Amino acid sequence: MSQSHTLKSPVLQSFIAGEWLGNQAGQALASPVNGETIYHTHAETIDFGRSLKFARTKGRASLMAMDFQSRASCLRDLGKHLLEYKESLYAISLLTGATRNDSWVDIEGGAGTLFAYASVGRRELPSGNLIHEDDAFPLGRDGQFFGTHILVPRQGVAVHINAFNFPIWGMLEKFAANFLAGMPCIVKPATSTSYLTEACVRLMQESGLLPEGSLQLIIGRTGDLLDRLDGQDVVTFTGSASTAAKLKVTPNIINNSIPFNAEADSLNCAILAPDVSVDSPEFDLFIKEVAREMTVKAGQKCTAIRRVLIPENQVQAVSERLTARLAKVSIGDPHLDTVRMGALASFEQKADVLAQLEELLKSSQVVYGHEDSFELLGKGSEKGAFVQPTLLLSNDPDAEGGAHDIEAFGPISTLMPYKNIDHAIALAARGKGSLVTTLVTQDPEIARKVVPALAAWHGRVHILNEASSKESTGHGSPLPMLKHGGPGRAGGGEELGGIRGVKHYMQRAAIQGSPTMLSAVTGEYVRGGETYESDVHPFRRYFEDLRIGESLLTHRRTVTETDIVNFGCLSGDHFYMHFDDIAARDSQFEQRIAHGYFVLSAAAGLFVSPGEGPVLANYGLDTLRFITPVPIGDTIRARLTCKRKIDQGKLSPKGEPQGVVVWDVQVTNQHDELVASYDILTLVKKQFD
Ligand code: NDP
Repeated sequence: MSQSHTLKSPVLQSFIAGEWLGNQAGQALASPVNGETIYHTHAETIDFGRSLKFARTKGRASLMAMDFQSRASCLRDLGKHLLEYKESLYAISLLTGATRNDSWVDIEGGAGTLFAYASVGRRELPSGNLIHEDDAFPLGRDGQFFGTHILVPRQGVAVHINAFNFPIWGMLEKFAANFLAGMPCIVKPATSTSYLTEACVRLMQESGLLPEGSLQLIIGRTGDLLDRLDGQDVVTFTGSASTAAKLKVTPNIINNSIPFNAEADSLNCAILAPDVSVDSPEFDLFIKEVAREMTVKAGQKCTAIRRVLIPENQVQAVSERLTARLAKVSIGDPHLDTVRMGALASFEQKADVLAQLEELLKSSQVVYGHEDSFELLGKGSEKGAFVQPTLLLSNDPDAEGGAHDIEAFGPISTLMPYKNIDHAIALAARGKGSLVTTLVTQDPEIARKVVPALAAWHGRVHILNEASSKESTGHGSPLPMLKHGGPGRAGGGEELGGIRGVKHYMQRAAIQGSPTMLSAVTGEYVRGGETYESDVHPFRRYFEDLRIGESLLTHRRTVTETDIVNFGCLSGDHFYMHFDDIAARDSQFEQRIAHGYFVLSAAAGLFVSPGEGPVLANYGLDTLRFITPVPIGDTIRARLTCKRKIDQGKLSPKGEPQGVVVWDVQVTNQHDELVASYDILTLVKKQFD
């Protein structure tokens, strides 16, 4: 590493094959705040063959030496490390024109995404590197031929081509998912703000937490990288629809069926429903949301509200209230605490936004903004890439083009009056597919009618009213646990969405075979597969010693009327099926039956080993089904089988190392019919840390 951020306009470096590359100055990058050159890209060319080889060998090997659980822990530690050094990132982020508020989304939102994926991994993924996606199901009559689905990490490289507006979050939201899946990645940030991504990658690399080869960084262009990919690789893209359209038809990408996930321009809208009156809290919420989306990140958000759909009779009220709000926004150098809106990310962006604004003006009139000069705070900011928030009113929202087609990627939005709610739905769809829409209404009936229609055209639908407003995360914030990505013009891609995001970096395969074979492959007991019984009760074994398939068939118990009466008195459940002989005889069961929860409790009484032992706690139960009724006089028994083990590397509250064990439980009657079926989840002590 030869460069330092203390040099004047230092040369940025790529991180390729485990080394920092770049000493000679290439393209100059100017601060959008005052026009001064702040960094240079490097002039040296990157050997992408070497970079790919490194990812596929070293990167893959180091990731496969870990598993979902250890990678989840690593994500958590990386997130902590970034938060520890976040101020250094905030300082650099100011140079992109972003205010502290804007940068929070990028920096702490990015670290937050690492934490969210760490917790997805720990909660939802097993130990090892294979996901058994759904329970195996029999394909034959005798229970010896089953089918199921598994997911394994793709064996290639994830190439991420990112946009300029979120240099950190844009990298981390993709990295978190590919890393958890077990794929190495090569990140190419947009050149104009790549200095902030570079600073973040340096922090990650210097932490010593990154497995070798798991993350590489390109400063500059991708050269022949896309031509060198193969069918195990994945490309993700965030940016303009035109670049997405160009890159996704790269012959090599098509010929090798390389997944290409695009997130592109999006003409998102917000709808003020007709039930919202001007003096209601929802009206204020609508105004606040639109104004915020116009000015946060100076409107440079793929989720920003570009089209503001309002009832025809509300044009004047909305215009006045938005104008008053936008007029209060102080614009200028984000180093100043008093500044609420900073600059666009580059002079190219400013030129592009102003050109798109002129196009929009052909079909709309100015309500606020677009002034020849406006107040700018901060020395030298008159030389910066600032654009005044500008609100337009569309003269004919049904016309072709205009705000339905033109994206001005800055603080520009267009009011579009609608006649009735069906008209609003039709106008929303004219965006040809968007990332997100907000519906502001007080009326659940309007939500019931409108949301399914909006859902066909939008990746996310945010319903806002007074009740949700205090906790609402807002129109513009993609959340790690919810899908991000929209149909059509928005690129047709999907990111985030919790575990869904991880699966984009894994390959699904259908598996068929005997239960024993499927148990061996999936690491999960499949009913009908081989079981292991011994004199030692499974609850007396430590986590490490338990084998998948280790099983216990209990003694029997005959259910009596006294059991039912006692359980009813203890629980207070005197449901007629258990206590009213006449009603029970009239029912489909034609007799009194035991409570399902009695059967569950009785089964626990049959299989539990009561003495102190390595099982520390029972913390839940999944997939419970009561299958056959248990009348008085039936005799039940339980089979308990170790189904799945998850080592989360966690300690009990007393500091003991422990793991999760999932047990398959089958309760049967005297005819060997299945009475109840479920999984129980226990915490089991480990012998070793
Ligand atoms: P681009 O589509 O030009 O760039 C996006 C990314 O693609 C950048 O990293 C860029 O790199 C890279 N790129 C561009 N051309 C190639 C190529 N031939 N091969 C490989 N990589 C390439 O978008 P911009 O950043 O210039 O923004 C333009 C417009 O895109 C905005 O005005 C806005 O309308 C939209 N946009 C949409 C976003 C969204 O999230 N949906 C986010 C940001 C922008 P480089 O920077 O080196 O050119």
